[in-house]
Amino acid sequence: MKINVVESVLKANDAVARENRRRMDAAGVLAINIMSAPGSGKTALLEKTIPALKPEQLCAVLVGDLQTTRDAERLEGNAASITQINTGRGCHLSATQVAEGLDSLDLKGIDFLFIENVGNMVCPAAVDLGEHLRAVLLSVPEGDDKVAKYPTLFQPASVILLTKVDLLGLLDYERDKVYEDVSRVNTSAPLIELSPKTGQGMDRWLAWLQEQRRQRAIEQNAS
Ligand code: MG
Ligand code: ZN
Repeated sequence: MKINVVESVLKANDAVARENRRRMDAAGVLAINIMSAPGSGKTALLEKTIPALKPEQLCAVLVGDLQTTRDAERLEGNAASITQINTGRGCHLSATQVAEGLDSLDLKGIDFLFIENVGNMVCPAAVDLGEHLRAVLLSVPEGDDKVAKYPTLFQPASVILLTKVDLLGLLDYERDKVYEDVSRVNTSAPLIELSPKTGQGMDRWLAWLQEQRRQRAIEQNAS
C-alpha cells in the first residue's frame, strides 16, 4: 500500500482547521492568518493596528514563535485576549496548535482574531489553520525579488502588505518589479504599501479590515 505521509498529515490538519473555522464562525469572529519572513514587521503591524480599530471592536491574538513570549508581551495591553504558542522546532503553526490556542482565548465579543504565524516564507502557506483570510507581509529591506522567489506564499494571499516603505528612499528597490511579480501570481489581493512606523498606508489597511469584517458579518448571519 502506498501512503503519502505528507498528504495524510495535511488532511488531518484540514479536518481540525474546518472545526476551527466553525468555532470562529459560531463566535462571530473574523480570523486573519498573518504570514511573512521573520522580521517583516508582523508584530509591529499588530501593535499599531489593534489600537487603531474602532473602540468598540475587540481583538484576540494568537502568536506563534519557536521560543520566547516576547511578541505576546509586546502586544499585551492592546488585545483583549492574547496567547503565545511556542512551536519548539516547528517552523509553522498547525491547526491543532490553533485549536489549543482557541481553548485558551475567550472568543465572546471578539471581532478580529489575528493569528501571527511563525516567520517563514515556505510551509505556513501550505497549512490551513481555519482562518478566513490571509495577510502576507513583505518588507522593503527583504529586497524586491521575494514575490518571484516565493510565489506559493503570495498566491493564496487575501491582501499583500508591502511594509517598511519609509525605507524606500534609502535602498535600491524597484517597486515596479514587485507589482509586476504580484500581478503574475495573484490578481485578486490588493497590494497595500504601508509603514506602521510613520503611519503611511495604515488607513488603507484599516479600511480593508473593516470591509472584510462587514462582509464576514453578513455571511455569518446568513448561515
Ligand atoms: Mg513577531
Ligand atoms: Zn514549517
